[in-house]
Amino acid sequence: MSALNTEKISALLDEFSPEEVPIERRIFVNRNLRMSSIELIGFDMDYTLAEYTTAFEVLQVQMTVERLVKNLGYPKALADLPYDPEFAIRGLIIDKRHGNILKADAHRHIVKALHGNAELQKDERRALYRHERVRMKSDRFALVDTLFAVPETWLFAKLVEMEDSKGQKRVRVDRYGKIFDDVRKTIDTIHADESLKTIVMADIGTYVHRDPELARTLVRLRNAGKRLFLLTNSLGNYTQAVMSHLLDGLRPDRPDWRQYFDIIGVGSRKPAFFETAEPFKRLDDRFQPTTAKVRSFEHGAMYHAGNRADFERFLGDGGDHVLYVGDNMYGDIMRSKALTSWRTAMIVPELETELLRLSALRETLVRREELDTLRRQLDSEIHHQEHMLSGLRGLAREPVVARADADQPVTPDARPALDRDAVKQAISHAQKQLKSREKQLQTTLQRIHEINIDVARAFNPRFGMVFKCHDEHSIFGEQLEDYACLYTSRVVNFSKVSPFQYFRAPRDFLPHEVPPIPRRIG
Ligand code: IMP
Ligand code: MG
Repeated sequence: MSALNTEKISALLDEFSPEEVPIERRIFVNRNLRMSSIELIGFDMDYTLAEYTTAFEVLQVQMTVERLVKNLGYPKALADLPYDPEFAIRGLIIDKRHGNILKADAHRHIVKALHGNAELQKDERRALYRHERVRMKSDRFALVDTLFAVPETWLFAKLVEMEDSKGQKRVRVDRYGKIFDDVRKTIDTIHADESLKTIVMADIGTYVHRDPELARTLVRLRNAGKRLFLLTNSLGNYTQAVMSHLLDGLRPDRPDWRQYFDIIGVGSRKPAFFETAEPFKRLDDRFQPTTAKVRSFEHGAMYHAGNRADFERFLGDGGDHVLYVGDNMYGDIMRSKALTSWRTAMIVPELETELLRLSALRETLVRREELDTLRRQLDSEIHHQEHMLSGLRGLAREPVVARADADQPVTPDARPALDRDAVKQAISHAQKQLKSREKQLQTTLQRIHEINIDVARAFNPRFGMVFKCHDEHSIFGEQLEDYACLYTSRVVNFSKVSPFQYFRAPRDFLPHEVPPIPRRIG
């Protein structure tokens, strides 16, 4: 065999040999998915194929602030505040009425609330939200559900602080709602009028990460017979700039990024794409729409807008043969799940840091688990002791029954006299047991609480983990579980598994299937 052939074969074998994948780069499964039955794999662009840098977030904030100051009279001092990329996380909720930033659990109960930078104390939080479950459909609340929206959450908090510092004189009823709407509208404008994108395109390396593994990931999927498509809400010229930065020149056999995709859809208006009948428009070389009716797709061409029904008709395939990979919980994942039978994979970059931190905290988490088991045991023992005490006290309250006279005939309800001393002793013993258990429970709860605080601090100092609220899932964690078939931290993680993989979800347990808690009574 020639040296060239040996080299080729060994490269091929390397390519196909399974890799040990570190936890933070694994693909997690909510619903079974057989990759061999997937024919088409679609990718969103922004924050899916293209991960933005912190410099992009800073730019977004800077431009918004400039406009708020210039057009809407916000204080110039805003421009001097340094942006904090660690301030907020995805999945938070903004309460426009009270100017608060909230974190809710899967039952929509508010577990954390910040006003500006200050955390609301438990009493304050309860007074405002105890009787309230967040209704996401209400205008009063806005969900921070994309990574684009994380920086504006910081800005909102700062503006709330500034508003409060004005004192009571100039207070208007809907002042926080007005601030939120001003910020939202301004950000919409900088995205829509292309001013943000013009700056990004002029220096794209500063604002968009480039991962050399992306080319290999896409080629592996294509070589396994999958057809790939791009479906982004970004417009043609911007898509060209970003995709070219991500892929051009990575492989000599595919100098142009368009060669990686069978279909390229831009300006797709997801989630409307999944339900409306907007026609596709083919774009010319200057990204202008051409007038000819689109009846099929041409390889390498770029199509604007469109809709899912035409998309599937032109391709002669669709439904659950499609896997769509996106980052936007609502636009890419929830709506596609509700309106189509496309399978979904969600890209969640936060997963990487959270998993690394969880690994570092492994011992603490094992300790918390042990303490939690102890808490359940103690709970159960305390309730047992309480029950026993109430029985003993009932006994002590019973009237004394006279000792049956030897001369009298024994009636059926005559009972032997109660040994009151023995009952008293039993009550005192049970009380001691109860007190000691209660004390132990308090110490255990305090320890769990301290660990929970330490764990949360190891993540985001204000809001804790993205996916959890202590024992419960967060709203974001719950949506991820309910709507995404697969989830992973980056698209390139697909290069670490076989394109024929059968992704199997872990077995689901109902509470009655979990082994019962042992009861230690004594
Ligand atoms: P996709 O994730 O590739 O589908 O596209 C996201 C597009 O939405 C990008 O072109 C962003 O510029 C745009 N975008 C993100 N956030 C906002 C916003 O708040 N207002 C308007 N457009 C936005
Ligand atoms: Mg996106």
